[in-house]
Amino acid sequence: MNVAFFDRDGTIIEDYEDHEWTNVYKPVFIDGAIETLRHIQKQGYKIIIITNQYLINEGYISYEQYDVVNNRMLRVLKEHNISIQEVFYCPHRRDEDCRCIKPNVGMIEQAITNYPDIRLNHSFIVGDSRVDVDLATKLGIRGYGIRVTNEQSNVTLIDAISDLQSIINKYERS
Ligand SMILES: [Mg+2]
Ligand SMILES: [Zn+2]
Repeated sequence: MNVAFFDRDGTIIEDYEDHEWTNVYKPVFIDGAIETLRHIQKQGYKIIIITNQYLINEGYISYEQYDVVNNRMLRVLKEHNISIQEVFYCPHRRDEDCRCIKPNVGMIEQAITNYPDIRLNHSFIVGDSRVDVDLATKLGIRGYGIRVTNEQSNVTLIDAISDLQSIINKYERS
């Protein structure tokens, strides 16, 4: 299984300041996100979302609120024939020192436990935060940073999620 690991907030749906999330119940899709997910799915990738939700244990949102936003997002994606294999989230506070908060590898390990046929070296990670590209670097796989990068050669800087449509094509043909 070749997987496109996507960050959620700021990558697929809009992100907000931590305190603003307290009043968010409806996901707002980022321009081009739906089309890009559909394109990547057509290239044969399974899509898995990995999202840091320290907002939960830091008290900004409840588990129920997380579920509402996430399920609404999944429903819209489904209406567009995009099936998300699974969503993994880390609810822990940033100071809890857990194994799953990105850039730690815990959520990727959970994914591999659930789907042992994942081929990491044929997979990639997309996100808009330093933690996303750093996780890709830690795993030694391709990373695409949306207006974010690190100094490593496995990471490609892009301006917007829709840039992936031409990039992933190119990669598949090469
Ligand atoms: Mg993000
Ligand atoms: Zn965690």
